[in-house]
Amino acid sequence: MKEKVDILISGGTIVDPKNNLMEQQDLAIRDGKILPLQQACDLQAEQVINARGYLITPGLIDHHVHIFDGGSEYGFFPDSALLPMGVTAAVDAGSAGAANYESFRQNVILRSKMKLFAYLNISSMGQLGGNFPEQINPQYYDLPRIRSMIDKFPEICGLKLRCDKAIIDDWGHVPLQKTLAIARELDTRLVVHGKNPPMPLEAITAQLGAGDILCHCYQGLNSTILEQSGGIKSSIQAARTRGVLFDSADAKGNYDYQVLIPALKEGFVPDIISTDLTLSSLFHPQIYGLPLLLSKYLNLGLPLLEVIRACTEKPARILGLENRLGTLEAGAIADIAMFELKQDVAVVFENKNGDCYNGNQVLVPLMTILEGKIVYRHMETMFRYR
Ligand SMILES: [Zn+2]
Repeated sequence: MKEKVDILISGGTIVDPKNNLMEQQDLAIRDGKILPLQQACDLQAEQVINARGYLITPGLIDHHVHIFDGGSEYGFFPDSALLPMGVTAAVDAGSAGAANYESFRQNVILRSKMKLFAYLNISSMGQLGGNFPEQINPQYYDLPRIRSMIDKFPEICGLKLRCDKAIIDDWGHVPLQKTLAIARELDTRLVVHGKNPPMPLEAITAQLGAGDILCHCYQGLNSTILEQSGGIKSSIQAARTRGVLFDSADAKGNYDYQVLIPALKEGFVPDIISTDLTLSSLFHPQIYGLPLLLSKYLNLGLPLLEVIRACTEKPARILGLENRLGTLEAGAIADIAMFELKQDVAVVFENKNGDCYNGNQVLVPLMTILEGKIVYRHMETMFRYR
């Protein structure tokens, strides 16, 4: 008798960075879990997906988004926007602070079918909108309330501080030092927005420890990861060696090609590739969403396995869920995405400064499976053309 399974994905190229695997294999799903790799002919499947010519990846994890729908100008509701992009898990990067986190949780996290996580903004109000930056005065950091949020809600995976000249104002190093002290006291991770830093970037990374994250790492304002000569600053390399993580969080303009291209040439690849998507950048041609951003890194020469690693295995490890999320190995949760890698397109990756990079390949999302259920499928995958 043939073994029964719910879904058989047949003939696709399995891309599983955690196991350094990229080869044609069948993939079977039962009861929301991935089964050990086996031959299609041994299985009786409720539904068969013909994936010949397509890539099968773990469900993507977008490690930097703004999804406080209804509570922040930046927010959008994640499921309808992100599931069709192959994204099955996402991390909100500080949209809410200790004062409004419970509202974010009730209105977004508990209503979403996706796996959602959050960094808590050090400012109690979080990031309300572009014309009204967070109150950064350390006098208002609310340690007892921050502690209570972290104790109560396990999806909170750290603190977030925007160390940006426009926000930090005259406070200099004080917000970073106070936020770090709180993060260390609560034994949690700190994510620092390092765009337009009010001090040399290396003065920020020098204070970060293993597991802390610098986001917008390829930004080009004020002080960057590069020496004048073009190489990576030795102090930035030292921070990476010490375990500080670097998140691209590109958005429409949180990177600069004058930094990004030389940095990749030097081998300074991102630990995490994330979008920093907001309501105003979602579907915008300068970022669109994670599949287009991943395509940019592919065109810049990063190998496919490494591109997918930076939005599956790596963020899953940061979340401490590497055996359940971000992998296609047997026993993992069946969060899966299917893409076509189109290699005959003319695609221009333009950023907010008007700088462009011309490419010829793009990852097009075709299907998303969440806990063993198909939650998105492009109609084209239903047919084979003669
Ligand atoms: Zn952000």
